[in-house]
Amino acid sequence: MLTGQQVAIVGGDARQLEIIRKLTELDATVFLIGFDQLDHGFTGATKCSLEEVKLDQLDALVLPVSGTSLNGEVETIFSNEKVVLKEEHLQQTPSHCTVFSGISNDYLNQITNDTSRKLVKLFERDDVAIYNSIPTVEGTVMMVIQHTDITIHQSNVAVLGLGRVGMSVARTFDALGANVAVGARRPEHLARITEMGLKPFYLSELENKVSTLDVCINTIPAPIVTAQVISKMPAHTLVIDLASKPGGTDFRYAEKRGIKALLAPGLPGIVAPKTAGQIIAKVLAQLLLENAKNGKGE
Ligand code: NAP
Repeated sequence: MLTGQQVAIVGGDARQLEIIRKLTELDATVFLIGFDQLDHGFTGATKCSLEEVKLDQLDALVLPVSGTSLNGEVETIFSNEKVVLKEEHLQQTPSHCTVFSGISNDYLNQITNDTSRKLVKLFERDDVAIYNSIPTVEGTVMMVIQHTDITIHQSNVAVLGLGRVGMSVARTFDALGANVAVGARRPEHLARITEMGLKPFYLSELENKVSTLDVCINTIPAPIVTAQVISKMPAHTLVIDLASKPGGTDFRYAEKRGIKALLAPGLPGIVAPKTAGQIIAKVLAQLLLENAKNGKGE
């Protein structure tokens, strides 16, 4: 249980509701900052502002998946008020206060660093990334169905990258009956792709592997689907780019050639916000329980 732990949830979207639910269930004292328009009444959670909350009593501060902007602004869909996290706020927290965020940027790195507060980037964790790949894949299947006039079954699909998302994408399209080829750069990845019963190829060979493709799904956050590669694709090929912005596709060239290429960021939050929130809530609760236990042991 998190009895006695004081946690401020600062901004966010529907995913934060699952975090609030989980933490109140575990008996934490929860402060909601940037939630003034939230109708849901959570018992054990108090709405307030960053100026009102007793920062010097906080054990943790939870930011949204996006963290802050480069000037400290925190996104919140449940308020019209601007919420800005500043270094002076962190300075007022106790030294053990941990800042949790999905991702980080130079601003957030700097204010946590300058105040010596621990920053946990939840989306860098393997467990979160692997759980998150599940709704990501479901969103990808949805997009492929929406944007093609053929079945996934027996279609020719290339998946680029065998990381946490790539592996789940490849396995799911294979299970749906597609002919799946997976491109990677490491020999051990090619071995794994072979073991999975899929067709492996080196990314350096990509432009020679796309001439019969129906769907190309990129998971690599680097320029991989270049103009050269796109020029070898059939006109009907659909490119879905899952990699973080700006993706790994030459969208300008794809458009010029009339190839449909879509950047599809944030699919978990779009297709399954509740599950996406539960994934973060589960891992966050585990980390807070560990923090609380370690704190008691000191
Ligand atoms: P990951 O586990 O780190 O996998 C990335 C893969 O890309 C690895 O196989 C890596 O190969 C390969 N790679 C990276 N740079 C490369 C390069 N320059 N050339 C060739 N291969 C390269 O990451 P992930 O968790 O699967 O996430 C993949 C991307 O999807 C990220 O950008 C992530 O932000 C994004 N994402 C998007 C959504 C969405 O909704 N669209 C959801 C979740 C994640 P090596 O192992 O050889 O380095």
